[in-house]
Amino acid sequence: MALATETELRTEEQQQLVEEIKRLRAERHAVILAHNYQIGPIQDLADFVGDSLGLAQAATRTDAPVIVMCGVFFMAETAKILNPTRTVLIPDTRAGCSLADSITADQLRAWKAEHPGAIVVSYVNTTAEVKAESDVCVTSGNAEAVIRSIPEDREILFCPDMFLGSYLERITGRKMHVWMGECHVHAGIRPEEIDAKLARYPDAELMIHPECGCSSRYLWAQSTCAVPSVSQKVLSTEGMLRHARQSDKRTFLVATEVGLLHRLRKEMPEKRFEAADDGAVCRFMKMITLSNLRDCLRDLRPEVNVAPDIAERARMAVERMLAIKP
Ligand code: SF4
Repeated sequence: MALATETELRTEEQQQLVEEIKRLRAERHAVILAHNYQIGPIQDLADFVGDSLGLAQAATRTDAPVIVMCGVFFMAETAKILNPTRTVLIPDTRAGCSLADSITADQLRAWKAEHPGAIVVSYVNTTAEVKAESDVCVTSGNAEAVIRSIPEDREILFCPDMFLGSYLERITGRKMHVWMGECHVHAGIRPEEIDAKLARYPDAELMIHPECGCSSRYLWAQSTCAVPSVSQKVLSTEGMLRHARQSDKRTFLVATEVGLLHRLRKEMPEKRFEAADDGAVCRFMKMITLSNLRDCLRDLRPEVNVAPDIAERARMAVERMLAIKP
């Protein structure tokens, strides 16, 4: 009898883990929510896959007593804020976010003190404490609509993503005070790397996430003719999926975390999707694995909790975000 190869053994082990997770999910009456940047096998078994806004919306729709967030910590906190009576779990509490860590509640309070009366708009990639200090949260999917909904005579403090903030200033024509935070993954995507990929796929359409360090620099470079003109769109992750479904183009370069490629390729196998930068990998997102997801469902921990007074204030900012459609 032929011996199983290492790959076959790994596949078999993975399949066993997937079956165990499905069994435990049913036993626990749990729902598994997964971000677009999760590994493929987790996206494949999740009850819902989406971006931060989609995950928050899914968290409001479910009546499952246990919510498992396969994403980063602030996403689990958001699910808890919206579902204070449910058990919210995250398979690895170390799954943080460099962008969320770029502003603390103390820093935001000090900034607000310098601009009394300003409206605080926080990207959803923030801690529960920062959300509690904010007037409204946004995702890249609805940020433009939120900014446009704010009366012209109000000052805006936008945090923490400087690239998304400067992109929003450009497309809305609205001057804001923008916090100088960034995501290490998106900021690491360089225009030179995009140029090299465009040279390899000259007919491709470029889809850029507005958090991308390259987006503002790349768009500026285009406007000064410093780089060749290409077909490009600045889109949230869900926007990329919607756009690719409708586009006549066959090939796309995707400037965001590489996990999104799994969903794009799965949903549109007839089209070609390539990473604008193969190194755009979020190590925090990849901390969630099949085995720690299995352990989390088996042991019902680690549980995520948010202090009730913080959750109550943060909920108002998150609910305003959910009320404003992209
Ligand atoms: S990709 Fe960036 S913004 Fe998203 S979770 Fe990772 S560090 Fe945070």
